[in-house]
Amino acid sequence: MAIDPKRAMPKRLVALNGARAGRVAGRAGEVWLVGAGPGDPELLTLKALKALQRADVVVHDGLVSEAILELAPAAARRLCVAKRRSRHSYAQDEINRLLAALAREGLIVVRLKGGDPFIFGRGGEELEACRAAGVACHVVPGVTAALAAAASAGAPLTHRGAAQAVTFVTGHAAMGGEPDLDWPGLARPNQTVVIYMGVATAAAIAARLMGAGRAGSTPALIVENASLADERRVATTLAGLAEAAQSIAGPALLIVGEAMALAQTALPPLHGEGGRRAAADGRGSLPHQRSNRGWRLGAAPQSPTLTALRSVPPHEGEGGPERATLTVARRRP
Ligand code: SAH
Repeated sequence: MAIDPKRAMPKRLVALNGARAGRVAGRAGEVWLVGAGPGDPELLTLKALKALQRADVVVHDGLVSEAILELAPAAARRLCVAKRRSRHSYAQDEINRLLAALAREGLIVVRLKGGDPFIFGRGGEELEACRAAGVACHVVPGVTAALAAAASAGAPLTHRGAAQAVTFVTGHAAMGGEPDLDWPGLARPNQTVVIYMGVATAAAIAARLMGAGRAGSTPALIVENASLADERRVATTLAGLAEAAQSIAGPALLIVGEAMALAQTALPPLHGEGGRRAAADGRGSLPHQRSNRGWRLGAAPQSPTLTALRSVPPHEGEGGPERATLTVARRRP
């Protein structure tokens, strides 16, 4: 099937050679939405490892550790589509269409996402996009950050008599406001609330929960870089959450609930070997920068989409290092 650039390619992408040149003969491409877990490669599932080992191209975000990326074949192309805190390098729509475009070229595309693809990972949107494009898409679950954070702190998310329920919420707030959550529901006692992406909004979240009746003395835990070598845990209370969050720099979870009284901050992290994150700005992930792994931009390409990747200077006014961007030149018909 030929790529229809209008449907398959992001605005910044157009076909270089037409689809046929990039086809892997006799093979239907497919997308694997794979959960990479919280960072420690030992928390990868066997299914995730097998999918990675079959990858022609790995499309990953910034939460995936370098040690996990190294598990893909040396010949597999890596594309970092990391989202920065302040601005998105890639619109979700572009990523969706990129995945489908690569699969249509006959490639095994592993879309590697931190934690689990379906927990605040936008995996559902990518799955829908693949379905709409008629591309086979398989989902491999991953260990979500909350599970790793609770395990290494020795603090159960549910606990007889202290936590009959656990709720995962996002602390992300649109337009710099505050998250729109069911505060009365979350303020009920004897349940654990895990807040993803909540460091920046910790003060508002704590105020809302207390305003809705959750006791300020409720135990709380912040876990930064769960499962990685630099994991850090801060035990506090709901009333102290905002202040404690000020010392956090990396990805972190806020966990509020009576069972967090069991958290141990002194325990060493349960991390395995080499848990380092990939560069979130895409440096080191462009094919032409990976000549040590035997592939250079433009050399024996399998995929027109990949062939067309090149780095471009940073956006005007952005400064900083060159960032990975997908840009392709169209061959005039
Ligand atoms: N799909 C991921 C979550 C992605 S949302 C998962 O299932 O874990 C990104 C947020 O996840 C971060 O802002 C942070 O709150 C949390 N997170 C991801 N990895 C983490 C880690 N290793 N330690 C602590 N929090 C993490």
